[in-house]
Amino acid sequence: MLSYEIALQEALSSVVSSPQVESMLLKDSLGRVLASDIYSPMNVPPFSQSAMDGYAFKAADLSSYQSLTVTGQSLAGHPFIGEVKQGQCIRIMTGAVLPAGCDSVIMQEQVETDGEEVRFQATVSQGQCVRACGHEYEQGELVLEKGCVISPRHIALLASLGCKSIDVFTPLTVAIFSTGDELVELGQPIEQGQIYDSNRYSLIAQLAKLNYLVKDYGIIADCPKKIEAAFTRANNEADVVITSGGVSVGDADYTKEVLEKLGNIEFWRIAVKPGKPLAFGYLSDSVFLGLPGNPVSAMVTFDKVAKPVLQKLAGEVSSTSLLQTAIVSSPLKKKAGRLEFQRGFASTNDSGELSVISTGSQGSGMVGSMCAANCYIVLPQEQGNVEAGEAVLIELFAANLA
Ligand code: AMP
Ligand code: MG
Repeated sequence: MLSYEIALQEALSSVVSSPQVESMLLKDSLGRVLASDIYSPMNVPPFSQSAMDGYAFKAADLSSYQSLTVTGQSLAGHPFIGEVKQGQCIRIMTGAVLPAGCDSVIMQEQVETDGEEVRFQATVSQGQCVRACGHEYEQGELVLEKGCVISPRHIALLASLGCKSIDVFTPLTVAIFSTGDELVELGQPIEQGQIYDSNRYSLIAQLAKLNYLVKDYGIIADCPKKIEAAFTRANNEADVVITSGGVSVGDADYTKEVLEKLGNIEFWRIAVKPGKPLAFGYLSDSVFLGLPGNPVSAMVTFDKVAKPVLQKLAGEVSSTSLLQTAIVSSPLKKKAGRLEFQRGFASTNDSGELSVISTGSQGSGMVGSMCAANCYIVLPQEQGNVEAGEAVLIELFAANLA
């Protein structure tokens, strides 16, 4: 069995990314992948401006004057036009143009005024409270790199640069279906021995979060002919085909057999828990990922194996996972041999330390363990049981502004 790291590396180095490029309005681009580097079309800020409400002045004047005289004002959008002479200052508001001749701003809370006279109540340094022209980005400077997934943060930056539209990659088309004679569609009654198909819902939701186009093929019975027909159709219609179930070694597990017939398998078992059976390979015109049937396994292997592969195919620069050290507050059961992504709930304790507790039973069919969690507890392949009080690595689920 391949280790998780080697399997992922093999999959990532074998897939080739060649997405198309399209232009898109910035306002519609949330979650899309930037297809070209962005260089700043202008200086940011475009002019030197005040960072405070107060008074703009020339720092050198203070050595000769006890107080300065206000001779004009500069408001945001209404610059002061004129000359600021020695001994003079200008009333200025946040975001307003720093008048020619001034190099600093004092906030209004730090002065006393008497009519037009302004007396400084604090020591000042040249350049204070000023956002200098080009201080954040100079015109022509690289601002964002191709492959960046557009988040609200990037939209804020691109809007500040005046980018009304941007080049993005065309999203991947992903075909998805579930396999299993026991599976029933939501809305239908279930009979003895049947269960609802939850994997398709969970995987489609994960795909939607990544902004891919989903082709939902529904539930396919455990029948090689039907699976073959579905594979063939999906191969023609999608860049990537994802299935769940039927990839193990049971009597009704046909996924691997059909994949071998129509395409090729790169690997089909990896040393990870949940999720040992996991087929990765190719159909003639698409990448294939056969995820395990157990709902937690399907969800976790999607996140930890399928997602990075899809991200590479989509032209994304995938973010590396951020692992943090936390102290476990309850013992964890673990056998050496597979890398485990156990489900945990992390919080900071009274002394500010990060601690984590298991969500309880870790059965790979128990989706509740995912819902109660806010992180994975990542336990290395050769790790055994963990005692309470020991340090482990955790990976928090995605953050708000990611
Ligand atoms: P399999 O990988 O097909 O052997 O399935 C492993 C376990 O996952 C069995 O208990 C299946 O009933 C269950 N399972 C398979 N597919 C799904 C699905 N789409 N939704 C919920 N459970 C599933
Ligand atoms: Mg099955």
